[in-house]
Amino acid sequence: MKYDVIIIGAGPGGIFSAYELTKKKPELKVAIFEAGHSLEKRRCPIDGDKVKTCIGCKTCAIMSGFGGAGAFSDGKYNITNDFGGTLYEYIGKEKATRLMKYVDEINVSHGGEGTKMYSTAGTDFKKSCMQNKLTLLEASVRHLGTDINYVVLEHLYDELKPQVDFFFDTPVDRLEILKDGYRIHFGDNSADCRKCIVSVGRSGSKWMERVCGELSIPTKSNRVDIGVRVELPAVIFAHLTDELYESKIVYRTEKFEDNVRTFCMNPYGIVVNENTNGIITVNGHSFEDEEKKTENTNFALLVAKHFSEPFKDSNGYGEGIARLSNMLGGGVIVQRFGDLERGRRSNQKRIEEGTVRPTLAATPGDLSLVLPNRILDGIVEMIYALDKIAPGTANDDTLLYGVEVKFYNMEVELDKNLETRYKGLYVIGDGSGVTHSLSHASASGVYVADRISEEM
Ligand SMILES: Cc1cc2nc3c(=O)[nH]c(=O)nc-3n(C[C@H](O)[C@H](O)[C@H](O)COP(=O)(O)OP(=O)(O)OC[C@H]3O[C@@H](n4cnc5c(N)ncnc54)[C@H](O)[C@@H]3O)c2cc1C
Repeated sequence: MKYDVIIIGAGPGGIFSAYELTKKKPELKVAIFEAGHSLEKRRCPIDGDKVKTCIGCKTCAIMSGFGGAGAFSDGKYNITNDFGGTLYEYIGKEKATRLMKYVDEINVSHGGEGTKMYSTAGTDFKKSCMQNKLTLLEASVRHLGTDINYVVLEHLYDELKPQVDFFFDTPVDRLEILKDGYRIHFGDNSADCRKCIVSVGRSGSKWMERVCGELSIPTKSNRVDIGVRVELPAVIFAHLTDELYESKIVYRTEKFEDNVRTFCMNPYGIVVNENTNGIITVNGHSFEDEEKKTENTNFALLVAKHFSEPFKDSNGYGEGIARLSNMLGGGVIVQRFGDLERGRRSNQKRIEEGTVRPTLAATPGDLSLVLPNRILDGIVEMIYALDKIAPGTANDDTLLYGVEVKFYNMEVELDKNLETRYKGLYVIGDGSGVTHSLSHASASGVYVADRISEEM
């Protein structure tokens, strides 16, 4: 098997590099190798009935397969350089923004027409945030919603299928450097290419680490974000979410001067389990479809932990804390804010008596036994700060699910073309450590495809 370009991973990074290559250089022979299933076969066996918890499938249908980790996500494409990655450090802010807008146009023309674009430009919330020691980050956000996001992926696949060779359920084991290109090994087979784009995302982080080690590509890693997912009646945040949909708000804690931030806001959404390498953490979704909307809004409150030498395993630290919650709760733990403040665990009865109906069946428990004091203090401080701009946030019945962990891939050393020290070997998307979001990952794919198109 010989290709001009092989892409490893069919998440947004891989999809958009393939898309751009087929537009700019339709004559190139392109293949995508993906560890997970094709889109229609992606189904998590947890049904809440027969299968209640993760059974450790060979590849996780939520994180892997066509569409990558974002396939069942809320499909929030944030167009901003303020968060979601540091692509702008490599390609400049203007170009990064332009590419994110280009990705948005493609999404809109592939099923996303009619979805709403929100923006922080000109909002009054900026002022009220400032008056309460909170900072509202600038962004425009296209909210596709889980359902439309899926439709867009279906359309992109249909368009790519005749032009690109897809190999699903085919994890790439090894990457070999040849004199004039690259050889990828999968099972007992191999395929050669002139250029290789690695886009393995978060689920491929351990693989990426091994490959970088084998090929002596320098990396660095020092960050993990840890926190909880907050769930409350949607009406409490409606004035913010109706105007901005997703507001990224940062609070600097008084006690430790740590930054706590809101992350992944899901108005009228649901809280869900997430499986990262067998560890169950929490996340959230929301839907465009009116019928699927709930009466709750959820969002994460995360504290960034940066480590310095000699400690290097920031993800291991996050995993350790998530494992602790899994050990105590058999999965995700839920606690009422009032119980947390009174220093007692929540139990089923108190949750049922509360006014907020949980959208995830989690185990009632005590988050103070799981989260380090410094992190929990920061979260509590921020809940009270948010209560000033959205009164009711600090109500006793507000639910906190833990733990939410945002793992960061180690950063791969790349040049301004997102190319490694090997000419023609590119690393993009979340697997590179450069991006942490749908729009940045997709934009990095377009960018590298353009570089390759110019060269070939
Ligand atoms: C539940 C959830 C909700 C999210 N919601 C949002 C959101 O609303 N907005 C937002 O901006 N971001 C969101 N994110 C993050 C977003 O999904 C990622 O930033 C984005 O998917 C990264 O794209 P990627 O292509 O770099 O990697 P991924 O999407 O992770 O794709 C990588 C692909 O590579 C494959 N792979 C890995 N290793 C190998 C290998 N060895 N061989 C072959 N294939 C391999 C994987 O199976 C996977 O399909 C969410 C993430 C999750 C999990």
